[in-house]
Amino acid sequence: MPGGSSVPILPANLITKTAEGTDRLMTYESLAEGGFASGSMLGSGGFIVFDEDQCIVRNTWNFARFYAHESCGQCSPCREGTGWMEKVLRRLEHGQGHMHDIDLLAEINKKIEGNTICPLGDAAAWPVAAAIRHFREEFEWHVTHPDEAVKRNFGIASNHMPLV
Ligand code: SF4
Repeated sequence: MPGGSSVPILPANLITKTAEGTDRLMTYESLAEGGFASGSMLGSGGFIVFDEDQCIVRNTWNFARFYAHESCGQCSPCREGTGWMEKVLRRLEHGQGHMHDIDLLAEINKKIEGNTICPLGDAAAWPVAAAIRHFREEFEWHVTHPDEAVKRNFGIASNHMPLV
């Protein structure tokens, strides 16, 4: 995540190259190439790097918890949407999600994006949308492997300490 927790996450191949195959530079312009389909934003420049052992669903849920907590509640898309996303991501992470929850998250995103007073709504929506865009198979794995989802990360054995 090249710009902190509020920007679209990119898979490793799109951090080093653009979708067109040109070198991706760590600049505002280069990171934006491809729009949100294959690009991101430099934002604050607060890079967050996840190695292959990390669970994208778990990390996305953790960000959603933060934004739901930070929402001041002044406008309803953010007030309701951030909390709703947090609940859906929580149940996916804990093996209680359904396939339609993944599309539900994308729908909630669309209702938040561009419809809030301040940028916190977008900041909450973009990382969730991008995580589904680039790592959908991890979300699906949590649905198809509910027992394993509570014990390990996507495809990788690990200690799974619940966040509280
Ligand atoms: S978008 Fe900003 S103003 Fe609206 S509820 Fe969220 S934090 Fe408050």
